[in-house]
Amino acid sequence: MKNPAKIIIVTFLSSLGCAADFEATQPAEFARCIPAEARVTKLAGGFGFTEGPAWIKEGGYLIFSDIPRDEIRKWSSSGGVATFRAPSRNTNGNTIDLEGRILSCEHSGRRVARLEKDGTLRTLVDSFEGRKLNSPNDVVVKSDGTLWFTDPEYGLKTDPATKQKVGKEQPGNFVYRHDPRTGRTTAIARDFDQPNGLAFSPDERKLYVADSGKPRHIRALEIAADGTVSGGAVFCTLDKGAPDGIRVDTAGRVWTSSGDGVQIFGPDGKRIGRIILPEAAANLCFGGPDGRTLFMTARTSLYAVPTAVAGASR
Ligand code: MG
Repeated sequence: MKNPAKIIIVTFLSSLGCAADFEATQPAEFARCIPAEARVTKLAGGFGFTEGPAWIKEGGYLIFSDIPRDEIRKWSSSGGVATFRAPSRNTNGNTIDLEGRILSCEHSGRRVARLEKDGTLRTLVDSFEGRKLNSPNDVVVKSDGTLWFTDPEYGLKTDPATKQKVGKEQPGNFVYRHDPRTGRTTAIARDFDQPNGLAFSPDERKLYVADSGKPRHIRALEIAADGTVSGGAVFCTLDKGAPDGIRVDTAGRVWTSSGDGVQIFGPDGKRIGRIILPEAAANLCFGGPDGRTLFMTARTSLYAVPTAVAGASR
C-alpha cells in the first residue's frame, strides 16, 4: 500500500527542486566532486537562520539548527521536516562523536552539550580558566575522542551604546580542544578574530579553521603526533562572503560555505569550483545512505546535492 505521507513529500520535493548551478574552475577535478548529472534540490524553507547540519547514520536522518527560532530540526526523505529539540538554547553547530552521540554548540547556553543515549543533555564544557565561554559555534571530533571547537562572540548581545558584547568573560575568541575523559580544556589558538567552522584533514595532521571576522579566510593549523599545535598559515581566501562551516572530503579537499553557496578547494588551497545557491550558505555536511549527499544550510532553507565523493570528517 502506498504511503500517502510519502507521496506528499515526493510532490513537495519536486515542487521545490531548482536547477543546479555550478561553476568549475578546474573541470576535471570538479567532476570528481560533483557528478555531471547532479542538480541542487531545495529540501525545505521558511526557517529563521539555518546552521549545524549533521547526518545521523543510525536513524538515517539529518539534524540542523534554526538558531533564532531556538530549535533543532530533523529532516528525512520519508518524514520531511520535524522538530528534534526545542528549545535548543539557540544551538548552532552540531556533530556526532565516536559513539554516535550528538554534540551541540549552544549560543545562549554558552556551552558544548552532549545528548546521551538515555536522552539527557549533559554539559561537556562551558568555561575556560574560570570564565564562561562566549558562544560556542562549531565542533569536530578527532579519532582519539577529543573535541575541538570554536568560540567566537556572535551569540552574545551587543550593547547599542558601547558596542561592547554583553556578558563577555573571555579575553578573546579562541579555538579549543576538550578531552571529555579528563575534562581538560586547552586553548589551541588565540589569534583568530571570529573562529568559526573547523575540520580535520583525512590524516588529522591539519586542522582547518575558518575565520569569518576580519580578515575572512581559512587557516591550516599543523597537529603533531603528540597533539602539539603549530602553524596557522592562510590556506585560502573566498571571493564571495565569509567562510563559515567547512568539511573535508576523503581526498582532502576543503568544502566551505560562502556568500554564493559552497566553494571547493584542493589540498593545495586552489579553488576547484563552486555550487551556487540562491541564498548564502552557513554550513554543510556530507550524509545520506551512502555518504554522498551534501546537505547545505543556507539562511532560511535547506538544500542538498549529490556528490561523487564522501566526507572524511564527521
Ligand atoms: Mg558557524
